[in-house]
Amino acid sequence: MEMTPVVREARRCGTCTLCCKLLSVEELRKPNGKWCPHCVKGRGCAIYADRPNECRRFQCGYLLWPALGEHWLPARSKLVVAFKPDGMEIVVHVDPGVPNAWRAEPYYSEIRSLAGQAARTPYTIFVQIGRRVIVVFPDREVDLGVVAEDERIAIREEAGPGTSRRGAVKLRADDPRIV
Ligand code: SF4
Ligand code: SF4
Repeated sequence: MEMTPVVREARRCGTCTLCCKLLSVEELRKPNGKWCPHCVKGRGCAIYADRPNECRRFQCGYLLWPALGEHWLPARSKLVVAFKPDGMEIVVHVDPGVPNAWRAEPYYSEIRSLAGQAARTPYTIFVQIGRRVIVVFPDREVDLGVVAEDERIAIREEAGPGTSRRGAVKLRADDPRIV
């Protein structure tokens, strides 16, 4: 399966505005999981022409990724899938008001399936609920708990006897192991 986003003309945001709650916007000092003060719920952005660059760069998985069926509409699923533009990361942002939304079916099975497909690519699948981050690998989930502002997540190979698999750890932002 193609893991990169493509332009998908058929879908529109409609009355969904969930990314304006679930994603952080540094330029506005808006944390994830809190509604942006500029969002008119169900309608859109009140400062659309002057919205921050982070908002302009946001790539919504529902709009761009044919692998996600109609049931992934964020307003319905309570999940916003985001492609990080600066890395090989796909983040499933979960509405903190429904923190187990990602475990509901068919979403959970599809997230596990995506993790299996991502194993053959440089991508990693993250689930984020507020500041809590869970990394989903094909064979397991690594719950990193709350990732503080001064922490970063490192994905690295973990070698065992005759085996190697990807793992995830939290490190301080100034840790020299962060590349
Ligand atoms: S989450 Fe996606 S579909 Fe919903 S408003 Fe944002 S860009 Fe549009
Ligand atoms: S500035 Fe506009 S687009 Fe950006 S989070 Fe706020 S309401 Fe959404």
